Amino acid sequence: MLEIKTIRELRSALKEERARGKKIGFVPTMGYMHEGHLALMREANRLADVVVVSIFVNPTQFGPNEDLGKYPRDIEGDRDKAAGVGVDFLFVPAVKEMYSEGYSTYVEVTGEMTHVLCGRSRPGHFKGVTTVVAKLLNIVEPDIALFGNKDWQQLAVIKRMVRDLNMDVEIIGVPTVRENGGLAMSSRNTYLSLEERKAALVLSKALRLAQDMVRTGKTNAGEIAAELKETIENEGLIEVEYLEVCDPESLSPVETIEANTLIAVAARVGKARLIDNALIVPES
Ligand code: AMP
Repeated sequence: MLEIKTIRELRSALKEERARGKKIGFVPTMGYMHEGHLALMREANRLADVVVVSIFVNPTQFGPNEDLGKYPRDIEGDRDKAAGVGVDFLFVPAVKEMYSEGYSTYVEVTGEMTHVLCGRSRPGHFKGVTTVVAKLLNIVEPDIALFGNKDWQQLAVIKRMVRDLNMDVEIIGVPTVRENGGLAMSSRNTYLSLEERKAALVLSKALRLAQDMVRTGKTNAGEIAAELKETIENEGLIEVEYLEVCDPESLSPVETIEANTLIAVAARVGKARLIDNALIVPES
């Protein structure tokens, strides 16, 4: 595995790979890797000849009161983990490399899909995400780029951007990797105490409950959402920020669950803000 810090060096290395006819797979991350990240890399390895992973804690996607300064980092551990799953190029740019003096250009998906769910409490977040992902896709020029279903809204927004800007890359969503017990893996789980980690299990439990509710014939989104919220808040230690039933592509709210539907939840548990979701596929 080659570790590269500059855009120029990465471009020149990938130009050679492309000239050899290699298919390039790309996995952008913010590091502090866990099995969720590694699942994306393994899938990239399966689908492409050359795997590029970036580690960049992108300042433009953090709000002024968010955890940019405290975001967990472990570059040495990440290096070992990435090498262990067959990553070829680890791109670790400095902030100055990505945002040079006088930086003034942003890519923004406008409209409802970036203002609902996480967009409501994190204004500007998705603008930061689409800007950095557009830059990274422009630098790496991969054939495929892989993102986790865990950050469903992010994945939907990136798919929208790629379609709208005619970017020549296939975006692939990868299923959420969970701890034993169901908690979705996240770098931010490190903020949880043992007790909070146990309480956080109720998020995935509620999403499983939603699946059971639909399976047994419930279709009223409002009733399902209310019951799930109650289940979660009864746990104590958890404050639901949102629990929404929506269309998986447009993210518009859904009133009756008839077709594939996304249930997305965000909650505060101690110092952590956790998100999770489930795609509900009603039996026909
Ligand atoms: P992050 O480092 O948190 O920005 O995540 C980098 C990529 O890993 C994103 O595409 C995430 O959606 C994905 N990811 C994070 N957690 C998981 C998980 N538990 N399962 C699958 N993918 C994940």
